[in-house]
Amino acid sequence: MNVPFLDLRVQYAAIRPEIEHGIAQVMAEAAFAGGPFVEKFEHAFAEYCQTDHAIGVANGTEALWLALLALGIGAGDEVITVPNTFIATVEAIHFCGAKPVFVDVDGKTCNMDPSHLERALTSRTAAIMPVHLYGQTADMDPIMAFAKKHGLFVVEDACQAHGALYKGRKAGSIGDIGCFSFYPGKNLGAYGDAGAVVTSDRQLADRIKMLRDHGQIKKYHHALIGWNARMDGIQAAVLSIKLKYLPEWNEKRRTHAAQYSDLLKDVAGLTTPGEAAYGTHVYHVYAVHCTQREALREYLADRGIGHGIHYPVPLHKQPAPGLQNGEDSFPVAERCAGQTLSLPMFPEMRPEQIAYVAGHIKAYTTQS
Ligand SMILES: *Cc1c(COP(=O)(O)O)cnc(C)c1O
Repeated sequence: MNVPFLDLRVQYAAIRPEIEHGIAQVMAEAAFAGGPFVEKFEHAFAEYCQTDHAIGVANGTEALWLALLALGIGAGDEVITVPNTFIATVEAIHFCGAKPVFVDVDGKTCNMDPSHLERALTSRTAAIMPVHLYGQTADMDPIMAFAKKHGLFVVEDACQAHGALYKGRKAGSIGDIGCFSFYPGKNLGAYGDAGAVVTSDRQLADRIKMLRDHGQIKKYHHALIGWNARMDGIQAAVLSIKLKYLPEWNEKRRTHAAQYSDLLKDVAGLTTPGEAAYGTHVYHVYAVHCTQREALREYLADRGIGHGIHYPVPLHKQPAPGLQNGEDSFPVAERCAGQTLSLPMFPEMRPEQIAYVAGHIKAYTTQS
């Protein structure tokens, strides 16, 4: 048996007639860049996220960047975030001229540990950017309380957490702004690059709409210097169709995660992912921690089992200039980077595939 890490083809096969019809409509109306299909998706996605506004953009990285620009964050400002995330989180901070400041994460969820915020705070701190890693939100109440106390903005990097809940509230709806990626492999994925910003603040929404379209208030009238970060019509049409299935697909991911966690619960040297009591995890990534990762990876690869590491090198250890956080170390994030192993996870997985993966992990650990 072969178990890929991710298989987008099975999903396409299941919804193909609908998708082909949706794409044909965009072509018939020649509504390619922005336009009515994007607006339709924005309404549906805002409703899904429990926010008043959603603004479709070209990808998740630009969603994060435009969110910070709209809040007026720039040179001289600091933004507190975590070192165990995808590089895009800090690229967005850099490209508006601000400086990322890292705090360590919680060992159970691998998400921002709010108890470290105080230590990272300076007179230049302007915003906090928690990342809802793997599909589970950070502990938002203490983060929001800290932000309120110190007059900071909160931008949620919800690029891995479409539909995740925090105390009943949707990821992305809790801070001032929430940012999403629709990269094909995300829980809600386009057929190319796309992203969205959600907020319930009308002024921020208007500003982001201008920023993504050359700062225009109307065609060729520029109220500010913006950028071209529009969403494609074809991507919006695909996303509108796929959004209807997202709750069902997230539910399937949860069922798969439960099966994995049950089968792997007593395996020595391996810890299954924890679901915090405050929320609902949507398992964009099902990541276990294991002490003998490299040997296990080889064993799995030899048996046709796909896997990944999210992420092998924490950002403060990357060579790119500007990322090193002085003398600070982040022992929990570093331990996560050394032990995390992502197993195959996608809604269309079959129970026997999960049993195959778990069976081989168990066989490996008893043999070694
Ligand atoms: C995917 C992702 C992004 C970036 O999204 P793109 O659409 O690829 O630009 C940002 N942050 C996190 C945590 C992500 O997983």
